This record gives sequence, C-alpha cells and structure tokens, in this order.
Amino acid sequence: MIPLLDLIEELHARKAKRVAVQLPEGLKPRTAMLACSLRAEGFDVLICGDACWGACDLALNALADADVLVHIGHTPVTPHERVIYVPFQQDIDPDVLSLAVPALAGCPKVGVVTTIQHAHQTMEMVGWLNEHDVTAVAGAGSARTPQAGQVLGCTYAAAKLADADVYLFVGTGIFHAIGVSVATGKPTFALDPYGEGGVQQVSADRLLRKRFVQIEKAKSAKNFGILLSSKSGQCRRDLAKRMERLSPNAAIILISEVSEMQLRNLGFDAYVNTACPRLALDDQNRFPVPVLSPVEFEIVQGLRLWDDYTIDEIE
Ligand code: SF4
Repeated sequence: MIPLLDLIEELHARKAKRVAVQLPEGLKPRTAMLACSLRAEGFDVLICGDACWGACDLALNALADADVLVHIGHTPVTPHERVIYVPFQQDIDPDVLSLAVPALAGCPKVGVVTTIQHAHQTMEMVGWLNEHDVTAVAGAGSARTPQAGQVLGCTYAAAKLADADVYLFVGTGIFHAIGVSVATGKPTFALDPYGEGGVQQVSADRLLRKRFVQIEKAKSAKNFGILLSSKSGQCRRDLAKRMERLSPNAAIILISEVSEMQLRNLGFDAYVNTACPRLALDDQNRFPVPVLSPVEFEIVQGLRLWDDYTIDEIE
C-alpha cells in the first residue's frame, strides 16, 4: 500500500542520498521490506526504531544523520520541509455502506467521517450514500487532518465542519466514533468497513462515567503534575502554562513517553495531560492515579461545570 515508485521519485527530486524511515507501530512489520527496497535503489537507509503512534511524533533527531525523514502512515500534523509524508491507504468496497442505510434512512443530514486509511474515499462514500437516498456530506479538512471527513483521536474538526445532524464513522473500532459523538453532541454510528462489526450506534455514557469517577478522585489530590509532551505534534506549552496557573500545587513535567512506571516514579497525586488526548481516555486503566484532560482539570478546580464537558482536542 506504500506507493514506492512515487516515494523514490520524490527522493530523487530532492537529491536525497541518506534516508531515515519511520513507520508507526501498526506498520512496523513492513520496515524491512521498505528499507531493502530503498537500499536497492541506492539510498543509505536509517530505520527509526522507537515507538511511533502518529505524525505527531516525528523522529526529527534522525535528521542529524539523514537528508530526509520518510514518515509512513499519516498526513502531516506539523509540516516540516525535510519530512516526506506517505499516508497509508486501504481501499474499501463502497457497497459495504449498504449495511448503514437502514439506520440512516430519514436522517436529515449525515456527516461521513473516517480515519486516514479510508479518507481518500470520503467523497466516494458521500456520493454512494446520496445515490442511495441518504443525504450525506463531509466536512472539509483542517490543519491536522487535511483530507475531507478525516478525524484523528486528537481532532474532530472535520465532523464539526460538516455540521450534520447525525454522523457515520467508517473505520475499525469505536474510539473515533465515540469521540465524534462527544465532540459534536450528535448521534453517531460506527460502520466496520470489513463487515465484521457491522453498524452500531455508539454511546459515550460508559466513557463519560469513567471520566466522572477520575474527576471526583482528583478532587482530593494535593498536587498535580502537568504533562507537557516533548513530541513534535503534541507539545502544547501555552496550555500547560495555563493549567499550571490554575493551581499553586501544580508543576510542569516535560516528558516523551507517558508510562505507568514514569507516573508512579514521579509520585504526583494526579496528572493533567496536555500531550496526546487519547492517553487519558484510552490508557487510564494503566495509570496509578487520575490523568485528567485540561477540561477535566478545570472542573476539578471549580472553573467549569460537568454539564460543559467537552473532549480534549489539539488545534
Ligand atoms: S496526538 Fe494522539 S491522536 Fe493525535 S495524531 Fe498523535 S497519537 Fe494520534
């Protein structure tokens, strides 16, 4: 699925000789194939072996030993002149949308959202639904999600731009669909394009109940560690400073990988996460103490009501 010929052409156009390659965890098993193919074309190859979950985590340190960094899998979140982005694309059969038609029939305006793997087909999906009596639209791309209808776990801008009455998320899992439902406050359906999970309306109730419990726990914390990511596309300094100002018992922690062991060693009673928003939502079970989103910390500090809860997004 990696358009190797296009990549090689681009590398030659840039007169690159030394090429660093970075693949996210899900695509890492393809590293050897890619590296050997590039070496066969005469490039010096350096593989970035550290964990990577998104284009927010560019291995820019590799550029000390390479002319360019090839980041596989994602569209840019922080464009860099020496980084070539090669998004990962997986075609789906638009006819799989027929599974969603009964649930969407009669909805005034359906917003189609998806992840990068399928975002190249967003407008094809919109067209298919419109041809099958479902009024569908897609929101324009944004700075972090340049393709129409594209969402990330840290931004649902395309969903909000669609301004739809109901959303259809096409992709695997339900995390992004739940994120869309919290970010927009609208009913959201998730369709597994491989047909295995079918279509289902997602509910954010379970997630919100869990977050409420963490907020209540954090109210008895005597100190708060404000997590500031050192990763290229997760670093929100201004937000971290703003969070620090909310409590005299808070301190900013510069950190790359947020792990259970690091949080335990640092020893704070609770943390406020300004790094990847998914950390607090996906990984709370692994952490020894509450890891709050900035909005949740505002609730703990009595500056926001639970009724005004919103999901954390990176602009
Ligand atoms: S910040 Fe988190 S959700 Fe956003 S691109 Fe990075 S890993 Fe993905």
